[in-house]
Amino acid sequence: SAYLSISGMAKAYRGTPALKSVDLDVNEGEFVALLGPSGCGKSTLLRLVAGLLEPDEGTITLADQRIGHLPAYKRDIGLVFQNYALFPHMTVARNVRFGLDMRNMPRAEAETRVADALALVKLEHLAARMPSELSGGQQQRVALARAIAIRPRLLLLDEPLSNLDAVLRASVRTELRELHARTGLTIVMVTHDQVEAMTMADRIAVMSDGEVLQHDTPQQIYEQP
Ligand code: ADP
Ligand code: ADP
Repeated sequence: SAYLSISGMAKAYRGTPALKSVDLDVNEGEFVALLGPSGCGKSTLLRLVAGLLEPDEGTITLADQRIGHLPAYKRDIGLVFQNYALFPHMTVARNVRFGLDMRNMPRAEAETRVADALALVKLEHLAARMPSELSGGQQQRVALARAIAIRPRLLLLDEPLSNLDAVLRASVRTELRELHARTGLTIVMVTHDQVEAMTMADRIAVMSDGEVLQHDTPQQIYEQP
């Protein structure tokens, strides 16, 4: 069975369906993009997987474990949103350590993980800086480091590039691909940008109006008439 398996997932807001019985399988180590126009339900699906929203119906399994009943912090899922929301009064290193401190990780191991995570996003040299001293792209990479420091079983990215200017977007795009290649992390990324999905993802789940219409490789999708 698939590493992440979403089955019959449905969600309505005050009676208006946002997701209509979505099924989606993601293999271990895969980079999947959820692609579709604004309002089609991408964020809702991501939030349901993360445990930030309760579904009306449906099940989620991760590594053969049912996780639907688990609170967000027990799912071992890393999250990065478009408004990367670092803590402004904490250094970069403290920001990355935050999730580890929340889990009461011993200091030595936490420091090793912070160093490893910052190295993965190539920001070791900025560990002692404050977020306000960093560019938008660097801040987004700190948010990524914070998410991967917990060694998540799954990394969820909600429009991670949309607040960056074109130059930064290109470099963070490349870095995300490299991060995926180096870590083998399973990634699900929300985007409304077709080029982003095509160039970054192994497979694309094309969404429209609360449904997944197609889930194929970029090449298969591109070759559709
Ligand atoms: P996307 O991420 O593709 O832009 P969303 O999942 O954010 O789509 O939204 C799907 C639909 O659900 C939209 O019609 C949106 O307006 C609606 N919606 C999302 N969140 C809420 C909410 N908290 N309350 C009411 N409606 C919502
Ligand atoms: P996204 O860009 O992820 O689709 P939005 O900017 O649409 O998110 O929404 C941001 C927040 O507002 C989310 O928490 C979402 O649940 C909520 N939201 C979105 N649409 C609606 C809506 N129609 N009514 C109430 N809340 C909404």
